[in-house]
Amino acid sequence: MSERRLADADVRGKRVLVREDLNVPLDGGHITDDTRILAAAPTLRGLSDRGAKVIVLSHLGRPDGKVVEGLSLAPVASRLGDILDLRVKLATDCVGPAAESAIDAMNDGDVLMLENVRFHKEEEANDPGFAKQLAALGDLYVNDAFGTAHRAHASTAGIAAYIPSYMGPLMARELDVLDSILADPHRPFVAVLGGAKVADKIAVIERLLELCDQIVVGGGMANTLLAAEGIDVGKSLRDADLGPAGAVLAKLKTGHVKAHLHLPSDAVVAVELKEGVDTHFAEVSKVAPDEMILDIGPTTAEHYRGIILHAKTVLWNGPMGVFENDAFAAGTEAVGQAIVDSGAMSVVGGGDSAAAAHQLGFAAKMTHISTGGGATLEYIEGRDLPGVTALRNSAQ
Ligand code: ADP
Ligand code: MG
Repeated sequence: MSERRLADADVRGKRVLVREDLNVPLDGGHITDDTRILAAAPTLRGLSDRGAKVIVLSHLGRPDGKVVEGLSLAPVASRLGDILDLRVKLATDCVGPAAESAIDAMNDGDVLMLENVRFHKEEEANDPGFAKQLAALGDLYVNDAFGTAHRAHASTAGIAAYIPSYMGPLMARELDVLDSILADPHRPFVAVLGGAKVADKIAVIERLLELCDQIVVGGGMANTLLAAEGIDVGKSLRDADLGPAGAVLAKLKTGHVKAHLHLPSDAVVAVELKEGVDTHFAEVSKVAPDEMILDIGPTTAEHYRGIILHAKTVLWNGPMGVFENDAFAAGTEAVGQAIVDSGAMSVVGGGDSAAAAHQLGFAAKMTHISTGGGATLEYIEGRDLPGVTALRNSAQ
């Protein structure tokens, strides 16, 4: 069964519970990147304009089921209010009397935010009683939280069993973009993979080997694959368990895969990761035992650029190096520039990859920057996202 989309719903005067992923990075109460709030705003504005009572649910950080003052959604409500040019109140709890009285006081078109759902341990446990309590606050449920769709929690997967449920426009757009590149990509289809979360991403490589024409790899992912090839990568970030990377290499050797996989031939290395440290270029086979690979080198960057320039579709997940430090940003900048210059349809997934695209000035030139990291990767892997499945199975 396919999910219902929000554009078709009659929302005027209804209490509409909207799950968004407003889990933004905070630095002492200050929002350092409001991308997710900006991405959710059109959904909320649209509902408000259509006369709904808009009740926003989200998590923030990992409070582990108790109230943590520093993880209040108060700064998010305030920023959302600025973006929407509306007064967005925050109810001090997401269930119970505080939520109920705040909702009772709403007029059509108002936007109310409920406090961090993860202040209750029942949220992450996907407790049915808690999901029912949340559902009782609304007439309709909208799941627009693509970034959290891979989690089976009460507010992402539980509520849909109790009230009429719809997929929000942001979630729908994310899935449509991913479906289009997974089902029928313009070729050559090039994947650019890097970053630090190697163990999480190996399964994605396996799937991309079947889908893509070329895969270029940097970051900790490349270090792990190089180590699995028997290259000593010194103190570089890599997965301790080389088994999965070894399996990828073995699969490539069979010749029964679609994609060509490219690993770095040279790197930017240093003995420690800090501002102003001495760096130099080294062939990957000549990294000293006390050194770390912190970026792809210039020969590799040029090689990858050549491959990317031929692409008609690019999927980018994971920076090529520690781009947060200028000394190790050149590789990420080079692939980003190549993606822009290729004119390919480009999809960027992953929080740090999106941050790199913003920091290096490429964000506006990419076709789509996904608000999901883990969710994007699990979807590419071909796994069902519990948040989406719940909408499809919604009895209401
Ligand atoms: P995303 O959030 O885009 O999915 P990850 O979270 O997997 O990406 O990884 C991002 C992080 O990887 C960045 O903070 C970057 O500094 C780090 N990184 C990239 N290359 C290396 C490397 N060679 N050594 C250590 N860290 C790296
Ligand atoms: Mg990350």
